[in-house]
Amino acid sequence: METKIRKKRKAFVETDDCVACGCCVKVCPRDAIEIWKGITAKIRLEACVGCGKCARECPASVITLREVPQ
Ligand code: SF4
Ligand code: SF4
Repeated sequence: METKIRKKRKAFVETDDCVACGCCVKVCPRDAIEIWKGITAKIRLEACVGCGKCARECPASVITLREVPQ
């Protein structure tokens, strides 16, 4: 029988280009993002549900949603 690998989406930040504006932090329904040392957004993947709100809100377009194995 074929084994299906289940995948779910998670948000990732291109940290070099993040301007630490905090817009993503405000819209995340799971409180999964923090501004690390005032420098860059950092996402707690275990809390992220892949809704994409942060990516839509980011003015620098540095958040992408990727599929990861469950
Ligand atoms: S995809 Fe949704 S849950 Fe995940 S960090 Fe972005 S806003 Fe939060
Ligand atoms: S909204 Fe974008 S630029 Fe602003 S802190 Fe989040 S990831 Fe960085």
